[in-house]
Amino acid sequence: MDLSIIVPLLNEEESLPELCEWIHRVCQQNNFFYEIILIDDGSTDGSWKVIEGLAVLNESVKGIRFQRNYGKSAALNEGFKAAQGDVVITMDADLQDSPDEIPGLRKMIVEDGYDLVSGWKKVRYDNTLTKNIPSKFFNGVTSRVSKIKLHDFNCGLKAYRKKVVKSIEIYGEMHRYIPVLAKWAGFKKIGEKVVEHRRRKYGVTKFGWERFVNGFLDLLSITFVGKFSKRPMHFFGMWGTLFFLIGFGFTIYLIISKLLDPINFALTNRPGFYLALVSVLIGMQLFLAGFISELIARNAPGRNSYLIEDKIGL
Ligand code: UDP
Ligand code: MG
Repeated sequence: MDLSIIVPLLNEEESLPELCEWIHRVCQQNNFFYEIILIDDGSTDGSWKVIEGLAVLNESVKGIRFQRNYGKSAALNEGFKAAQGDVVITMDADLQDSPDEIPGLRKMIVEDGYDLVSGWKKVRYDNTLTKNIPSKFFNGVTSRVSKIKLHDFNCGLKAYRKKVVKSIEIYGEMHRYIPVLAKWAGFKKIGEKVVEHRRRKYGVTKFGWERFVNGFLDLLSITFVGKFSKRPMHFFGMWGTLFFLIGFGFTIYLIISKLLDPINFALTNRPGFYLALVSVLIGMQLFLAGFISELIARNAPGRNSYLIEDKIGL
């Protein structure tokens, strides 16, 4: 199979027929052997009925239906597990991404050797204040932290080599950081392609203001997990030692001062006394957190699952 098109959707019944018809037309023109995997992420409108209807009309259309709304990341993750195509393309269901981009994206994977190509909505048709400006900020920060040069991490339209989607797991709301996950899984050739963006034709956006807070917290977790999930003590231990040393330093200073001047030196009047107390406590807390994380990391599933690139003689 040449292509898997993965479409996560939540309450998008009006868009689906038009979307599938359009994808079908593009794939036919290019002679692609393809599948469309529609993941209904707990829609409460008639989306699933529409999908059932589309699957009858076109056997390339496949569907997965969640029992309830689990979020876009979960939907993509299920789609990735099911995908069979050599190239996997994700796109939003709301017709904001144009299926006309499919051949170009596929070409970059197949001919130019990219592992992942992210769409870049250079001209964007969303609300400037609530979407476009925050998203510039988000992309700037993510790009700096991850050292991946992309302008539009969260673009729904992306293309992947099959191996990439089988190697990464998207949980929580990590769909914003798929390029980062791919990079950490060892895929180096990550590129972008300017894509056409369109105004939402039907329905409403599913992401509100919470996405700023969530997105920021996810960036922190993803940075931490990427760096320290296999060796948490290196993180907690470092800060723990620092705090402990600060506390220890103050304690020594206080003891010496007290010994030199036992009568006039009032311990509890000194800022150093409180700093010593707090620092030692925080240091100990950090060490405890480190030990517990180590125990968890040791027992976590997948602790020895490495991605093996190649083998000889085995
Ligand atoms: N979506 C989903 N589950 C959710 C929220 C959104 O599958 O919990 C789908 C939605 O149907 C659409 C895509 O994710 O196909 C992008 O969502 P939306 O267009 O609302 O985001 P925006 O373009 O406004 O950022
Ligand atoms: Mg949209």
